[in-house]
Amino acid sequence: MADAAPEPLYPLLRGSDVAAQAALSSDLSVDHLVIGAGAVGLAIARELTRRWPERTTYLVERHQQPGQETSSRNSEVIHAGLYYPKDSLKTRMCIRGRDLMYEYCSSYNVPHKQIGKLVVGPSNARSYFESMLRHVSSLEPSKHRPELTLISGDEARELEPELSKGIGAAVFSPRTGIVSSHEYMESLEKEVMDSEIAEIVYDTSVLKVEPILVASASSNSSSKRGASSEDQGWIVHMRTGESNDVDTLRSKVVINSAGLTAPAILNGLLRDGHFGSAPKDWAREGSGESVDDSSRKIAPLAAYYSKGNYASYKGQGARHVKHLIYPTPFGMDQGGDPHKHQGLGTHLTIDLNGGIKFGPDTEWLHPPRDASPDFWSSSLAPLTRVPHSHQDADQESRLDLIHQAVQQYLPDVLREGLSPDYAGIRPKLVPPGAAFRDFGVLLHHSNNLERQRIWQEALTLGAAQDGAEHGSVNAGGTMITLAGIESPGLTSSLAIAELVGDLVGRRAWAHDDHHSKAAAKARARTGKGSADDATSSANVDAWA
Ligand SMILES: Cc1cc2nc3c(=O)[nH]c(=O)nc-3n(C[C@H](O)[C@H](O)[C@H](O)COP(=O)(O)OP(=O)(O)OC[C@H]3O[C@@H](n4cnc5c(N)ncnc54)[C@H](O)[C@@H]3O)c2cc1C
Repeated sequence: MADAAPEPLYPLLRGSDVAAQAALSSDLSVDHLVIGAGAVGLAIARELTRRWPERTTYLVERHQQPGQETSSRNSEVIHAGLYYPKDSLKTRMCIRGRDLMYEYCSSYNVPHKQIGKLVVGPSNARSYFESMLRHVSSLEPSKHRPELTLISGDEARELEPELSKGIGAAVFSPRTGIVSSHEYMESLEKEVMDSEIAEIVYDTSVLKVEPILVASASSNSSSKRGASSEDQGWIVHMRTGESNDVDTLRSKVVINSAGLTAPAILNGLLRDGHFGSAPKDWAREGSGESVDDSSRKIAPLAAYYSKGNYASYKGQGARHVKHLIYPTPFGMDQGGDPHKHQGLGTHLTIDLNGGIKFGPDTEWLHPPRDASPDFWSSSLAPLTRVPHSHQDADQESRLDLIHQAVQQYLPDVLREGLSPDYAGIRPKLVPPGAAFRDFGVLLHHSNNLERQRIWQEALTLGAAQDGAEHGSVNAGGTMITLAGIESPGLTSSLAIAELVGDLVGRRAWAHDDHHSKAAAKARARTGKGSADDATSSANVDAWA
């Protein structure tokens, strides 16, 4: 099997050049525009709607239903938060998200089950498990730490009698569970749809986002101080269905939660020169890693795509399994860096109907630079030869490999019981073998973009660095890009939404909210209602 390392891709959105010819201003405006109705985008739209019920929120999705890409093509595991570095966002978001997810599922009757998970390995994996235990016991605050118990091979076989005799040690995580990702997303979708101030628009692709430049905003504004805060923000270009027409919309806040295409949306701003200058030859530019400060500013976001195939299983050797079973991540039993694994290994998942699946495996893809939704659909066929795969394995040999991996811990599983199921694609920011990479939460303001960097992390960015006072109108609009939201993104979705809500509150609305609180106090004193509320709703209806 040929298996070459994938080249970095600096993606751009197909159609963004067409959008350039469209009108640069729009009379239609919303407060928040969320791109992508995956689990993360839906959770964010819900959060924004709940926090600011008086502000308009638009969620735009290119497919006709929510969660057609990664969010419905994963293991549906509620992770406990065992694997990632202590101070990473992945750990923080996973642990907080896990608790929020269990609460949410119980409150909204989303099918889920806390069934627990075993990570199993040969006797020499014991030191890896011990380091996992030390890691978990160092997490703060202690009351949210994942529970984890180190057990012997025999104790593991008491829990799961079909496990191999070669399993010499294991850890048991009782807090891990499973969830119906479809019903979770349906529930979030319903909450957003039921809100009077939010809309979800399907079958509509965002082609391009660009800043409203202060000069043009000023010309629309009667304010002597220049552009008013309502005039500032972003112009978003969109196309619905097969139409050739490009619609535009203004939004003060843009949340780029477009999953696999999130880097392409940000790279569009770079290509159009908004960051000052664009690199001449994108293919040669660095990915933001190991480059000097000046090139880091204009290096496009690199993306790597790792497909994970699943096989469903019927037959002997796994009939009585009650827990999720994971192998020791590849190389970890030989003392590898515990946070550097590419995936959690070909594991056993149980769905809520008791069906068993093994997967996901790892197949690196190299899609075209202007990857269209059609590309993703063709690549998502499970276990088939895909046009842009780096690996030349056919369906049968992929199933053979899955079988070999599973036999390490469930030796009686039969090859003929495996059949191809679905596949998902991990939105990676680094190639195989690279150091651990955290979730990327990038923050940009529409004013003075040329002084900002592409890779600008929201949580480490002081107000001075982006030229913006917290919540000041000088910052213009706020854009938050969620990049590299791979596993445990489903588990983390409600926590990511909470984080984004906090950032939007601090960066976009602190100034206005301060004034609206003062105005509300004044209204309470005079007993008069707000005219602004009516204006916001009218904008949404006009565009819908
Ligand atoms: C094989 C695999 C297994 C996994 N297992 C787990 C697990 O067990 N537990 C866990 O917690 N996590 C898991 N994950 C990770 C989890 O699935 C993702 O982190 C999560 O689904 C990401 O959600 P999202 O909303 O960011 O992205 P997506 O689900 O990809 O949503 C993005 C949305 O944006 C839309 N979009 C893209 N571009 C545009 C555009 N230009 N205009 C309009 N819409 C656009 C897309 O159509 C899509 O619907 C797994 C991932 C994979 C690949």
